[in-house]
Amino acid sequence: MNLFPTLDDMPENLSGKIVLMRVDFNLPMRDGFVSDKTRIRAALPSIQFLQKRGAKIGLLSHFGKPKGQAVEELSLRHVISAVQDILDCEVKFASDAIGAETAKQLSGLAAAEVLLLENTRFHPGEENGDPEFAEVLAKPADFYVNDAFSAAHRAHASTSVIAQFLPSFAGRSLEKELSNLQTYLETPAGPLMAVVGGAKISTKITLLESLLEKTDILVIGGAMANSFLLAKGLDIGKSLAQPEKINLAKRIMEKAAEKNCELILPSDVVVATEFAAHATSRVRPIDAIRSDEMVLDAGPDTVDQIAAAMERSRTLVWNGPLGAFEVPPFHTSTVEAAQFAGKCARAGKLIGVAGGGDTVAALNMAQIAEDFTYISTGGGAFLEWLEGRVLPGVAALASQTTEN
Ligand code: ADP
Ligand code: MG
Repeated sequence: MNLFPTLDDMPENLSGKIVLMRVDFNLPMRDGFVSDKTRIRAALPSIQFLQKRGAKIGLLSHFGKPKGQAVEELSLRHVISAVQDILDCEVKFASDAIGAETAKQLSGLAAAEVLLLENTRFHPGEENGDPEFAEVLAKPADFYVNDAFSAAHRAHASTSVIAQFLPSFAGRSLEKELSNLQTYLETPAGPLMAVVGGAKISTKITLLESLLEKTDILVIGGAMANSFLLAKGLDIGKSLAQPEKINLAKRIMEKAAEKNCELILPSDVVVATEFAAHATSRVRPIDAIRSDEMVLDAGPDTVDQIAAAMERSRTLVWNGPLGAFEVPPFHTSTVEAAQFAGKCARAGKLIGVAGGGDTVAALNMAQIAEDFTYISTGGGAFLEWLEGRVLPGVAALASQTTEN
């Protein structure tokens, strides 16, 4: 049962009604074109639902970080043609998210027509979560739908505050994300294994602490693991690390022992003297790293350990690559571990869940994304959910009064 209203709770007939739907069209661009349309596809079921019910549809989104002012390169105009491609219909454009002209364009829409509104972050009130701005944004509309799970961890005007001013509903994609998280991770089938990698321990510390409460096996990889190696008194040469976080690393190791959580740190690593594609690389045990070397990936013994742990686990949650995967050959451990997880998931032995911008890119590189049970579209939102934090975008939908 949902704690918030969904599209199924909307009136049967929405003809003549204006529905503002928050989507995440913060799309990756290359040479002026949208390079990945996944996020547009994610919004499609909700848009089609509203079209079937005859609504006038206004789409709200942020795009990049314009910091409260209009920035031409960050205009959502640049994504219109990609949105039209996926929606397979004409998409109109309003050159401001608010104002009389935009209100006129919204009310002038025919049933099922779609109007994309300009970048909400062109106004400082968006990121400040300014209630006055949210009210102005809401003014022309009859209903609000939030379908942007990946922005739900932000308490911004268009992701959360607006729900105070309109009857508000969760879109299909937001609903699906939350139900998957609940199904697989709220009371996960054990043993539960987590893989946490990435660049910095400081951005993942809350995650590690919260995972220690529920995981049976915790793998720490990526540059983050270097701070743990330092904490164990090992020499890590020129590796990326956060020496000021050694105490945090020590605390995590102690807590893991207390909680009976099996901690897997790299036992061997791949090093190079320069961080460049196809740089000469070597495998070293962790106690033999030279002072002019840097750790850029986990080694083959470590991958074997991770694979063996996957075989002993029933649920896997993964965030953060095990190495500098963007630069070959330092993608190797991430790709091999991901392929093994994909194989276990395909065979029905493992429930594989993953999220995070770079993690998803790495799983796509390993070509096993479809083998995973569920891959979240949210980076920050996925992390914050895992950390046990309340997502403001979801809380805003849940806290509506019944008069709405
Ligand atoms: P996600 O986006 O999935 O949450 P992060 O942003 O936390 O993941 O981490 C991904 C980044 O960590 C990648 O850019 C990757 O190159 C970097 N990284 C991982 N291991 C290393 C390493 N050993 N040295 C340098 N960078 C690393
Ligand atoms: Mg990242």
